Amino acid sequence: MALYVHKYGGTSVGTTERIKHVAGKVAEARSRGDDIVVVVSAMSGETNKLVAYAREIQEIPASRELDVLLSTGEQVTIALLAMALEQIGCPAVSYTGWQVRIVSDSVHNKARIVSIDTERMTGDLKAGKVVVVAGFQGVTAGGDITTLGRGGSDTTAVALAAALKADECLIYTDVDGVYTTDPRVEPRARRLDRITFEEMLEMASLGSKVLQIRSVEFAGKYNVPLRVLSSFKEGPGTLISYEDAKVEEALISGIAFNRDEAKLTILGVPDRPGVASRILGPIAEANIEIDMIVQNNADDQTTDFTFTVNRNEYRKAFDILEKTCQSLGGRQVTGDDKIVKVSIVGVGMRSHAGIAAKMFEVLAKESINIRMIATSEIKISVVVDEKYLELAVRALHETFELEREKLPSTH
Ligand code: ADP
Ligand code: ASP
Ligand code: MG
Repeated sequence: MALYVHKYGGTSVGTTERIKHVAGKVAEARSRGDDIVVVVSAMSGETNKLVAYAREIQEIPASRELDVLLSTGEQVTIALLAMALEQIGCPAVSYTGWQVRIVSDSVHNKARIVSIDTERMTGDLKAGKVVVVAGFQGVTAGGDITTLGRGGSDTTAVALAAALKADECLIYTDVDGVYTTDPRVEPRARRLDRITFEEMLEMASLGSKVLQIRSVEFAGKYNVPLRVLSSFKEGPGTLISYEDAKVEEALISGIAFNRDEAKLTILGVPDRPGVASRILGPIAEANIEIDMIVQNNADDQTTDFTFTVNRNEYRKAFDILEKTCQSLGGRQVTGDDKIVKVSIVGVGMRSHAGIAAKMFEVLAKESINIRMIATSEIKISVVVDEKYLELAVRALHETFELEREKLPSTH
């Protein structure tokens, strides 16, 4: 007998009809004799609605209270799914994060799971029940409710799969797998049968929100077989696994993009040791994650320093930077929150030169100005103006021949 963890995202549980549909799928899997643990998200739009309520009261909501609020979204769907399962004769029990002791650290709004107590779940599975667990939430050692960052139900599912030593973690969503790029931006995107953990991690980190980054990290670390598939249509989905010969063939596996970027520049700061840490230290202390960093070469003993942050944290970062600018005797702080990052990802890049040149050439041909560049072994990212996002993604998709079918050649 095998053990599977299923995860159903917001769209898949967006209405009571859809919850009944999910119950049907779970019961069917259960009837094959396997043990099933299900993780669900809040109904689509619910988490956003709760965030909006909080912001109507406090511009920057108190992080502890925000978690108390946000965790309610998933409490609704676990109960409804357990009822739907009971209704069709499939014994089930629902649990919030704290009830199954998904213990996290205490970084509210983006907590990390540190341990999971599987005893209660294992007992229920032995008793023949389907266990339904709320995604996205945990509890600190001190008993405070936390949430795991947007999209965090994916991480709950993978962490449960690791803790329970599940045979596979199945992420059911509204697309039937991982595509060469977001099919909403490039309809000619192609579903991948397989992708490596390494590539998926890059894709997720670079903005492909089909899986939360931490879920991929977790799956890689604990070697949890992970599959992304549709809750609406049958199919094999995409398997995320370790690199093998077959996966290695592709030069570029996908294009990721991130619309949530903003960039900040501090102009004319003294060019001397320790300046970078004085600029970034206070940003890190405020728990703001920094992405790309560029420091210009200076001739006149001063330098400009640019970095990107999540757009949500732009204002906060700007205010902190203005204070740093004053204390460092810098000239000015400028910023732009209408930028995006577009990246190409592929393990095949490792052994091929000239990919960057090709990427820049395509963007130049479309008259897209590149504002920042970052590279690693298996990815190249550029920052461009927001208005060029679709154009850049489609042009790159075509140049690197990622499309579903080769277009018929023109005679
Ligand atoms: P869920 O609510 O099930 O967690 P998400 O909205 O978080 O679903 O993730 C699924 C969405 O991810 C898709 O609808 C798609 O628009 C988007 N997406 C972004 N990049 C990709 C990609 N490379 N492949 C597939 N989907 C992608
Ligand atoms: N409901 C949470 C969100 O919208 C978690 C999730 O869906 O994974 O971010
Ligand atoms: Mg998601």
